[in-house]
Amino acid sequence: MIERFTYNGLPARVVFGSGTLAELPAEVDRLGARRALILTTPTRTRWGDELTALLGARAAGVFSGAVMHTPVDVTEQAMKVVRELGADCTVAMGGGSTVGLGKAIALRTGLPQIVVPTTYAGSEMTPIIGETRDGVKATQKSMAVLPETVIYDVDLTLSMPPLLSGISGINAIAHSVEALYAQDRNPIVSIMAEQSIAALGRALPAICLDPKNTDARTDALYGTWLAGTCLGLVGMALHHKLCHTLGGTFELPHAETHTIVLPHATAYTAPAAPEAMAAIERALGVKTAADGLYALAKSVGAKLALRDLGMPESGIDKAADLAVKSPYWNPRPFERDAIRALIARAWAGEPPRAGA
Ligand code: NAD
Repeated sequence: MIERFTYNGLPARVVFGSGTLAELPAEVDRLGARRALILTTPTRTRWGDELTALLGARAAGVFSGAVMHTPVDVTEQAMKVVRELGADCTVAMGGGSTVGLGKAIALRTGLPQIVVPTTYAGSEMTPIIGETRDGVKATQKSMAVLPETVIYDVDLTLSMPPLLSGISGINAIAHSVEALYAQDRNPIVSIMAEQSIAALGRALPAICLDPKNTDARTDALYGTWLAGTCLGLVGMALHHKLCHTLGGTFELPHAETHTIVLPHATAYTAPAAPEAMAAIERALGVKTAADGLYALAKSVGAKLALRDLGMPESGIDKAADLAVKSPYWNPRPFERDAIRALIARAWAGEPPRAGA
């Protein structure tokens, strides 16, 4: 049954397909920009050279210092380059870390952004930015950081190693899972979320077998677009709260943490969100949502235990205390002991347990 809802769409121009990077010069022109600053990570400077060649006179320069968690000091270095070059737009090519830098520049300057995502993180579709100052990450929502144009080119994802593809894709699935039971969920977002889980669920194991499988890569990128859109449109719940807490407190890697926590957070929430669980089960073709997500993580070869990411056992209590101290809304409210049990299972790499 359709209940009363509010739908608040976000503007997005998306160019999707194989070979779409060739559209970049025309997309810069479409924004009326003439001096694009290209953003990459230190390991992907080659992309900076390639985009410079593609953009010709439209390229003002390259900043290849993007790193995880958008530290403010890196943004300040990039801002210096923005001013020196007189850049009038940014072109961020890379994963969530590079996209984060583009958003941080947009927040300070209002410069339009073109994003060319190369992982399945999904940040490009959201008005959300997390920035780190003195080791503390703070997240905010602002329309100023929503990219104007997103170019999804399936060909650029072919080089993503199978394991990174798997965990990055499960990070995207996590956005869709939480969108299905978000407090402000609505029928449109639920359609996108279910489609996204189905597309990524069938694509990720196939990519692990053959990373150059373009049909699977297309499905995965399509699922990512939908997942990012879901994250941008509705609120996050227990799963994202736990990942932010664990990632921030113990410096755990982003996509790996999402992959490990998701089955456990889903099992915890399942009793209070039967319709969402039914949608996940339909999408994955499984009997139990949490078990299906755990099996998916296993099938892509992901680590299954937080202890294998370097989290100390003594951190279990700390993380449970921090999570309940400032909870997000969740269909099943945060209960300290049950959340501690959830984190303990994730720490040890045990399978998820229904309702706990
Ligand atoms: P990442 O951007 O750090 O990329 C991981 C690594 O993969 C990097 O070394 C990168 O150079 C490399 N890489 C990227 N694309 C590749 C490709 N096609 N082939 C080979 N290597 C490639 O990691 P990520 O998981 O994409 O993003 C994580 C970050 O994004 C986190 O900081 C997270 O907080 C943020 N994020 C933000 C939002 C949001 O809405 N604000 C949403 C999701 C994630």
